[in-house]
Amino acid sequence: MTPAASASGETPRPLIELQDIRKSYGGNNASAGAPATTVLHGISLRIHAGEFVAIVGASGSGKSTLMHILGCLDRPSAGRYLFDGQDVASFDADALAWLRREAFGFVFQGYHLVPSESARENTEIPALYAGMPEAERRARATALLERLDMGARLDHRPHQLSGGQQQRVAIARALMNGGRIILADEPTGALDSKSGAEVMTLLHELADAGHTIILITHDRTVAAQARRVIEIRDGRIVADAGSAEGEAMATPAHAAAPATPFGHPASPGGASLLADIREATRAAWRVMWSNRFRTGLTLLGIVIGVASVIVMLAVGGGSQQKVMAQFETFGTRTMFVAAQIASLRNPSAPLTLDDALAIRTLANVEGVAPYIEDKVVVRRGNVDHLTEGGGATVDFSRVLGWGVSQGVMFDAEDERRVAKVAVIGETVRKRLFADGQDPVGQDILVDKVPFQVVGVLASKGATDGEDQDDRVVVPLSSAATRVYGHPNPTWIAVQVRDIDKAQETATAIEAQLERLQAGRNVLIWNRVEALRVQTETARAMTMMLGLIAVVSLVVGGIGVMNVMLMTVRERTREIGIRMATGARQRDILRQFMTEAVLVTSVGGTVGVAAGLGIVVALLLAGVSVQFSVPASVGAFGCAVLTGVVFGFMPARNAARLDPVVALAGE
Ligand code: ADP
Ligand code: MG
Repeated sequence: MTPAASASGETPRPLIELQDIRKSYGGNNASAGAPATTVLHGISLRIHAGEFVAIVGASGSGKSTLMHILGCLDRPSAGRYLFDGQDVASFDADALAWLRREAFGFVFQGYHLVPSESARENTEIPALYAGMPEAERRARATALLERLDMGARLDHRPHQLSGGQQQRVAIARALMNGGRIILADEPTGALDSKSGAEVMTLLHELADAGHTIILITHDRTVAAQARRVIEIRDGRIVADAGSAEGEAMATPAHAAAPATPFGHPASPGGASLLADIREATRAAWRVMWSNRFRTGLTLLGIVIGVASVIVMLAVGGGSQQKVMAQFETFGTRTMFVAAQIASLRNPSAPLTLDDALAIRTLANVEGVAPYIEDKVVVRRGNVDHLTEGGGATVDFSRVLGWGVSQGVMFDAEDERRVAKVAVIGETVRKRLFADGQDPVGQDILVDKVPFQVVGVLASKGATDGEDQDDRVVVPLSSAATRVYGHPNPTWIAVQVRDIDKAQETATAIEAQLERLQAGRNVLIWNRVEALRVQTETARAMTMMLGLIAVVSLVVGGIGVMNVMLMTVRERTREIGIRMATGARQRDILRQFMTEAVLVTSVGGTVGVAAGLGIVVALLLAGVSVQFSVPASVGAFGCAVLTGVVFGFMPARNAARLDPVVALAGE
């Protein structure tokens, strides 16, 4: 702003200068064939700071159209608008928002208050967008409202106020950021004569305090109260009485800030992003709360989505874990080869140790553990116990992943010496050593042959109803010579290297055994392949469940979008009000995005809680479930992401609305 030029005797630069402003509606593609109507036919006008101007004209003469252009709510079709010497056409959306926020204050015939906010909050809105800190904002709004005799109505919502009171709130709002230029479009139009007179008195006071007032009215008696009256008819200025133009200006008022309490706020301040978000969250919460039922229905979609993700992943994970647990007893890479149990008339050739060695040479085989197995009676003192006896090589521990929990495993030396040493299972220990004595180093009889216990096998529990701990294991050589009288393994455990080649390996084993001795009837229990298939099935199941969950989240998201689109449509006028009071596009975007994210966050939280509840209920009902924290966090994150993704489009639509279009919206 340049210093006033009055010292040099020239006319000071006008605050507002319109040069041949024209405005037409329709006639383009946007309004689908409507004929073009020109509403303003070349308006030229200069308004100086501190003037009190009335623009008077019949209904439909173009007054409101002119005011929207003056207040930068709308752009002219042609002509130049200079604000303080600068061409407004060169301003971008943010600069225009800044102008509306810092320079103008609007007062409308229909008040245009945000219905969900209280009188004080409505008054605060322009300062919100100006970034004034909360405490200061509140104090100033309260002071302004008290000054306008609204001190007792601070927390009333617009519908709880009379027309005159609402208009006073609107005036307070117009003054919130200073209101250097008050644009009042038929401010008394909807008021009774007493309230109307009060509003006019207020405008006079503001004019006296140095504000520039542009009053629009169809009422000549109202207009007559202004110092300058511009008459407009059919979009043309037909009279302009009392113009300051050419007269010596009493004060170069446009440089002087109006005096308090109507004047500029003490400091423009600057609210933090956090405060902005807190404010947006508070407002979003209020909107959600006032639309509880609808919000609840939207939430339901998200809740079901999130809860199903959690429950389905937990159930899927649980069944997978169960499968793994079943197989892990003997390692996940072990298969078993056994001679088929043949009929007495057609005895099958037994497996031999040579078979085991031959299998060991196969490509995908990492280790083999031949095992002789038959029932034996073990005895200690006067306690007899019938158990599963067995002879194993030293590879037993490695191939089956089965070590000792106490003492040691017999070793290669024991095997070579045909040593009379044994390891016993937990069940055998309990039966024979019920006295609690340490079995290691003790002697027991295995089928009447004395063996020394060197270790206790780690407990495996039961698989398929068979107690794996009910056994005694001795070196294979000892079993062959001292217990069973033959060296033929009952089964051979084979550890494969690559799980994916398990089936090929099984076929190779069959071929190898057939080569060694034709016509043999062997049985291969390919647990590896079974496990692979089961794991894959479980994985596919989990994926399918996950997919269902994702679909339900998407459906929930579409619900959010639907509600957001409805919200935006319902609140078009509110968006217009906010823009007229200086909200930038990003403020509107942020507001609606916050609402979407808040809805989905609440939905996500409830969904996680519901999912957890169901998982716990399933757990109590004995269903195998595996609750996963990452899955829950992921589901919650997805829900919020859904809000961001599906809320963005409606929010952006809202932000892109033209202020004047939004204001006219229903
Ligand atoms: P006033 O405020 O003086 O009563 P307006 O400026 O509201 O008059 O309207 C002037 C003329 O412009 C009217 O004839 C009205 O029908 C027309 N008009 C206003 N807004 C639009 C619009 N968005 N599209 C088409 N015509 C419009
Ligand atoms: Mg009008």
